[in-house]
Amino acid sequence: MLGTMMDVPLLLSSILRHAAAYHGDGEVVSATVEGGLHRYTYADMSQRSQKLANALARLGLKAGDRVGTLAWNGYRHMELYYGVSGSGLVCHTINPRLFREQIAYIVAHAGDSALFFDLTFLPIVEELADQLKGLKAVVAMTDAAHMPKSDILAEKLPGLLCYETLIAGEPDSFDWPTFDENTASGLCYTSGTTGDPKGVLYSHRSCVLHALAIAMPDALGLSSNDVICPIVPMFHVNAWGLPFAAPMVGAKLVLPGANLDGASLHALFEGEGVSFTAGVPTVWLGLLDWMDGHAREFSRLKRVVIGGSAVPPVMVSRFHHKGVEVRQAWGMTETSPVGLSAALKPKHRALDPEARLALECKQGRPLFGMEFRIAGAEGREMPHDGRSFGSMLVRGPWVASGYFNTPTGPAHADNPGWFDTGDVVTMDAEGFIQIVDRTKDVVKSGGEWISSIELENIAQAHPAIKEAAIVARPDQRWGERPVLVVVLKPGASFSRADMRGHYEGKTSKWCVPDDVIVVQELPHTATGKLSKKAIREIILKEIGS
Ligand code: ADP
Repeated sequence: MLGTMMDVPLLLSSILRHAAAYHGDGEVVSATVEGGLHRYTYADMSQRSQKLANALARLGLKAGDRVGTLAWNGYRHMELYYGVSGSGLVCHTINPRLFREQIAYIVAHAGDSALFFDLTFLPIVEELADQLKGLKAVVAMTDAAHMPKSDILAEKLPGLLCYETLIAGEPDSFDWPTFDENTASGLCYTSGTTGDPKGVLYSHRSCVLHALAIAMPDALGLSSNDVICPIVPMFHVNAWGLPFAAPMVGAKLVLPGANLDGASLHALFEGEGVSFTAGVPTVWLGLLDWMDGHAREFSRLKRVVIGGSAVPPVMVSRFHHKGVEVRQAWGMTETSPVGLSAALKPKHRALDPEARLALECKQGRPLFGMEFRIAGAEGREMPHDGRSFGSMLVRGPWVASGYFNTPTGPAHADNPGWFDTGDVVTMDAEGFIQIVDRTKDVVKSGGEWISSIELENIAQAHPAIKEAAIVARPDQRWGERPVLVVVLKPGASFSRADMRGHYEGKTSKWCVPDDVIVVQELPHTATGKLSKKAIREIILKEIGS
């Protein structure tokens, strides 16, 4: 027997309508590419998204068409999120930090019908101009006064449009269509560290459910009392869902634009009273170092969500000293992204500081809606004892069941219906999951597995070290051995003997890295994570093999 409740589809346009109706005066502040801060309200955002939706229809874009964006976190990008998806089109966020060839591949693979770009990314558009000729529209996200005047563009893309001119004459209202909640709403490609990038095609239903889930207190914990500043880019897994969750709860939204250095972020946080922010560890390292160097504190920031790669304990302690709560979260492009959050329970607050910190440094416990399985050999479930490890599998309403226009899905061979995350993890009796390593980053030494994350965290706590990475070096006897690659703080030194002394007593003897290599800079991926692949190449060159 079916229940007798209304079957109202979960659509992204409902978030915008809700924000405009009940949080209409909620502020949206954006650091702009043209310079200065732009301010308006959710009511304004709703009106301009409707103008944009009318413009998209006039351009001849039809339901299901993909609209590419190359843009920072800013108000016009928000309007695209809602105007495009709300009309039944697919908002395809492209990561501008990818190699040009990857961007060209992605635009072609997605079959984008239109492309919107921030002025910063003009050089990319110029390079891709030949490929973009057939699109229904290429639009610079700016006003008439700032329109680019480029010879290449004038010749290759004479029809280049200006965002403000495009929407200026459109009606203020648009009837958001009602359709199946499983309709595609957004497309985001994984960075493709192995093979070509793969497209994850989100649905309205998956995004709305994910936004509801991350807002919950023990997830990211969002409310209308917050001032939310997503540092994680809107081109990286929908800025972890914050562009949907912030208007859903009616929080003031602060969008940082292109300047993500310590000085700019600190000024923005202080100036706008940011209470909640989220991003990858690399960004926070920059901010904390800048603050220490300039004797600055936070006056309003309460919580920082850190994810994307493991959070070094020393980073948690540094934020604690500045009066900020750290909440680690785990996720992937394929999981929308948030699946785990390391919120403590009341009983954990009584733990001694070291045990508490250890728990906060785990990746977290499952959000309701997400199921996790730790698979050992032949897919057998491993015990939840905090020690036994296996491949982390996941399933849930905001997990990808396949990739866009790609025949092979991500299902796990021994566990059909589950997605294999590629992470090797342990789970304790309370469901706290800890990543031992990514399958491809773990160091396999003499049949044992050495966690690169554990060794990096230890290194990161040494006062001479600014940033650390552990990679495997081929070894005749052991197969692989760990090598530490570090960037030092200005004026600091760090020898192999220092390294041995520092690791002593903090990990098993056989896990201590064999060597340390000091470099000026560590390479990062397009999503701001350490690029283990590029670091491995550095050390192979160093040892001349
Ligand atoms: P890519 O695979 O291109 O890096 P994603 O951004 O989807 O793209 O990365 C997902 C991976 O990032 C996860 O499988 C996991 O290895 C890593 N990751 C995400 N959050 C965390 C975290 N809190 N701690 C450690 N690793 C994390």
